[in-house]
Amino acid sequence: MIRLCVWLLTAGWMISAAFAGNFKVFYPATHTGWVLETPSGKVYVIDPGIADEFYDTAPKHGTGIGTYLKQRGIKTVEAVVISHPHSDHFAAAAQLFRDFRVRELIDTGFNPRTNKFGGYNAEFWKAFEKSGAKHRVGLRAGATLAWDPELTVKVLGPKTPFWTYAESGKDAERYYNQNSLVLWVRHGSVSYLFTGDITQPAQNFLRTHYPAEIKDTAILGIPHHGKYYLQEDFARLVGSAHPAVRIGIASLSHTKKGPKADRVPVWRRDGLTIFTGDNHNDITVTSNGGNALTLETSKPSGAKTFQVIPVTASGR
Ligand SMILES: [Zn+2]
Repeated sequence: MIRLCVWLLTAGWMISAAFAGNFKVFYPATHTGWVLETPSGKVYVIDPGIADEFYDTAPKHGTGIGTYLKQRGIKTVEAVVISHPHSDHFAAAAQLFRDFRVRELIDTGFNPRTNKFGGYNAEFWKAFEKSGAKHRVGLRAGATLAWDPELTVKVLGPKTPFWTYAESGKDAERYYNQNSLVLWVRHGSVSYLFTGDITQPAQNFLRTHYPAEIKDTAILGIPHHGKYYLQEDFARLVGSAHPAVRIGIASLSHTKKGPKADRVPVWRRDGLTIFTGDNHNDITVTSNGGNALTLETSKPSGAKTFQVIPVTASGR
């Protein structure tokens, strides 16, 4: 009996030791979305992206989110988070619901029904209902998520009440984009910000309501994939607590639409080091629970390590 207890304790220690430490974030080569693998081995997907060849086995486009999950041998997705119901963010969720055991759908509840400007389609709801996943709806700034004992997960946007059509410049596309769910995740000293498609007023909201989290952000999912929307005082605040690590991740398929659309040079000018997905390149960021992170790209294949060393009040 004593032996068995010792064995169980040892096995328990081995399991926790095997998982302790790493948090992995994957950005696909196919337009948009994120896969988060937590230190305890749970998997979350934010914005599975465009459907079909962008999602699954896409030699033409590089590794999509569906392909990545299957390559990793993942069977269960704890939650699918949809930042806002534009099809380039949610459409592949229907396939995801069919391919994996998905426990939960998380969103803001903003304008969910189909109309000519956005909203989920019938296929999405059909696949969701068939999946048996729960729906956690109505997330707004101020909420927290208990995803993993080693992670702090905060919802920083959208605000309550939602941004109005008038506050969105009476532009239907911006109205949806501005109300994107914004998630901030901290692991050890490394923090990540996932912004969906937030526009300038929503970036300004983050700057004024959550300055500590924005200064601390090491890895920024650049809003709207790097296209059009940029609030420069927000950009300059991102990661300013540790100037040697200020990384932004954007998408080439958006920014290559010409200099008028492309804000990546400005994000860069404001001090961020930019890595871009697409063009067969996918990006993986791994943090170890301390102050180190490794960023790997598939094309060109390579890894870079960074150390988050906060600026002290007395120094520099
Ligand atoms: Zn959008």
